[in-house]
Amino acid sequence: MRWIQHIQRAIRATLSALAASHQATASIGIAYYDPDCQDKFPARPGDMLRMAELAVRSAKASGGGRLAFYDAETSRHAEDALQLEQDLGEALERAELYVVLQAQVAPGGLLAGAEALLRWQHATRGAISPGQFIPLAEDTGQIVQIGAWVLEQALETLAVMQRHDPDLTVSVNVSPVQILRAEFIDEVAVQLERTAVDPSGLILEITENVFMDEPHLAGEQLGALRALGIKISIDDFGTGYSSLTYLKRLPVHELKIDQSFIKGLPDDAADSALVKIILSAAGELKLRVVAEGVELPSQAQFFEKLPNVFLQGFLFDRPIAVNQWYERWLQ
Ligand code: C2E
Ligand code: MG
Ligand code: MG
Repeated sequence: MRWIQHIQRAIRATLSALAASHQATASIGIAYYDPDCQDKFPARPGDMLRMAELAVRSAKASGGGRLAFYDAETSRHAEDALQLEQDLGEALERAELYVVLQAQVAPGGLLAGAEALLRWQHATRGAISPGQFIPLAEDTGQIVQIGAWVLEQALETLAVMQRHDPDLTVSVNVSPVQILRAEFIDEVAVQLERTAVDPSGLILEITENVFMDEPHLAGEQLGALRALGIKISIDDFGTGYSSLTYLKRLPVHELKIDQSFIKGLPDDAADSALVKIILSAAGELKLRVVAEGVELPSQAQFFEKLPNVFLQGFLFDRPIAVNQWYERWLQ
């Protein structure tokens, strides 16, 4: 086992010399061939490599910089993830991904716009929730291609919506992986031009952790997006760990109160206090607010008569296919 530690140490030393400020570690996965257990262990090199790859995934999953042996039981999970990742890579081509829309309602009850939400209908596994495949796509970088496709779809939708009513908006979720790429700005600009929409109808939803990871770069990117005429919304507001100073410095237009705070309204004292704090901060900073996950009339009533609060949730609309949504809301 000592030679494995030698490898890890050598890699660490070499990489720290090359990149002074970065800590690099090596995860190692080991598969071994035991001629006495031929029934248990296949001897084909391809199988051995796959086993080693699954083992290295276990090593990474347990925190990185570690060592893991192939083990059929724990590798089943890794194998599943690997398969899902490969399937996701082909999902766009196979037309298994599609966008649904969920209405957002203005104070007074009129339609304000919609949020675009991604869906994956897997050929054999059925519907896979975005909560499961978006983090996977972020880890593998596939979110860059998938997110660009979602944006294209959403802007085509916005073009239809704006022909109907120029004030309608479409909100698109954007992952930190996408927004922190320098190329993102040009890609958005190209799509805005292609679809000839009024950019002020496009709202990009980002989460607070963008500011934790890369505060400077995130600020620059948001500034560039603002210069294109686009609006920025902070999704799941109140659930992150970032400092609030970014609200002061950055061109943020909207806060989306996370549905976990809406759940307890109007009776839960803590939820209602927190929501009031968010509303008051948003009021001072002149930000628009969207309450998401509104399911009950009593929750909607909590926000009644507040001029700048928009509502989104099952009470008004379930996320539905784009054409169905047009029929329901634009006619
Ligand atoms: P999110 O952006 O916060 O979206 C709101 C989620 O709440 C959606 O779940 C929506 O279906 C659900 N929802 C809406 N109204 C209600 C309600 O009244 N009650 C309850 N219980 N839930 C409600 P969904 O579609 O499963 O999406 C989950 C998350 O996946 C999204 O959270 C977003 O973070 C991410 N996501 C979805 N589509 C995309 C995408 O195209 N790109 C990226 N990067 N992330 C996406
Ligand atoms: Mg969202
Ligand atoms: Mg949210």
